[in-house]
Order: sequence, then C-alpha cells, then structure tokens
Amino acid sequence: MPSNRAEFPGMPWWPAGYAHDAEGRAFEIAVGAVLTQNTNWNNVEKALANLHAAEVLDAARILDLDDENLAELIRPSGFFRIKTRRLRAMTEAWQGAGGLDGLQARPTDELRDWLLGIHGVGHETADDILLYALERPVWVIDTYTRRLFHRLGFPDTAARKYDLLADDLLTHTREPTATRLARWHGLIVEHAKAHCRAKPACGGCPLLERCAYGNGLEEGR
Ligand code: SF4
Repeated sequence: MPSNRAEFPGMPWWPAGYAHDAEGRAFEIAVGAVLTQNTNWNNVEKALANLHAAEVLDAARILDLDDENLAELIRPSGFFRIKTRRLRAMTEAWQGAGGLDGLQARPTDELRDWLLGIHGVGHETADDILLYALERPVWVIDTYTRRLFHRLGFPDTAARKYDLLADDLLTHTREPTATRLARWHGLIVEHAKAHCRAKPACGGCPLLERCAYGNGLEEGR
C-alpha cells in the first residue's frame, strides 16, 4: 500500500496519518482494513480523505451518518454499498467493545473470534486489524504472501486453509513481535509489487538464489 501520509508511529508500513491519538489511529487503521477489501490502496486513500474532510473519521461520527451519506463518502473504495454495511458493523462492534482501551484488555485469540463474528470481516481483514491496529503478533496471509511462499518452495501454501497457514508461519517465526511481523508483511507486499508479480520479474530479485520457481524447480513449470 504505501502512502505519502505518516505511518503509525512505532508500527511500520500501514499508514494512519489523519488521527491525533492512539484511539484515532487504531480506528483509522480498522476503517482502512475494511475499505481495502477488493480494491487497491489508492482508492482507500480517497475514501479516507473524504471521511477526514467531512470530519467523520471517528466511530461515533460514522455511526451518526445515514447510509446514503456514508456510502457517498466511501464511494471511491468501490463496492461502496456493501462496504457501508461492513464499515457500520465494524464501527458498532468497535464502539460496543469500548474502543481501543476495551480491546487492548482482551487476549489475541478472543479478539480474533470477536473480529470474525463481525459482518464482513474475514480472516485477512481480522488479522490486518489485529496486527496494525491492535499490535498483536499475527501473520497477515494475503495473496502476495501465499504467492511468495509458494514460489519459494512451499507447495501447499497456495491452497492451505488460512488459519492453519497463519498458525504454522507463526510457530516457525523466531521472536514474532508485532513490529517485526508488520515489517515483514510490508516487505512481502513491496517485494510482490516490485518483483514477485503474477508474472514475476525474477531478474534482479534478491531472493532468486533460494527460489524454487525462479530457478525453474517448481513442479509443473
Ligand atoms: S525469483 Fe522470481 S518467483 Fe522467486 S521470489 Fe523472486 S520474483 Fe518471485
């Protein structure tokens, strides 16, 4: 995604530049995690800019908006009627849980179950919020992560069930702090955009020496 806006202080890569305090930053990240579903970050930026300009990038103010106004503000993020329902559901849940302070008091597994119970929040969105907004040490398994590990030589990565793969990666991560996992996730996405695209640009890739796909070793290639 990267952005020219400020990043979350202490938490690399995910931008959250409109908020002025920890609660606002965490909520802005959670909003971005919902809006980034099925679109690119540039479109999310436009929707966040609209919410900021309308002075409603805040849980209570979002809930005060009617659906039409909210949908219009987030229209640039695409699928805006679906995302209006999802954003409202996440915001109601966020506020009902007591915001950042209430959420920080709960263990990670309980938070994940809570997130997955919110309308429109799947595994990837839940882990985006856990990692970047709530600073919990979890792997975010997105298309880029699956593709990279698959090509590096872990053949079952592409189709493996999300939670099994995430648990497995976490088990094999040395000192899995939230900051480290956020940095790695950011690096994986940047690497996927620069080199490991759908049609990979292996020339000059820093992982070429240890990559099964890049060396023509992948089965069926
Ligand atoms: S060598 Fe090619 S396939 Fe392997 S990680 Fe790099 S870009 Fe991706």
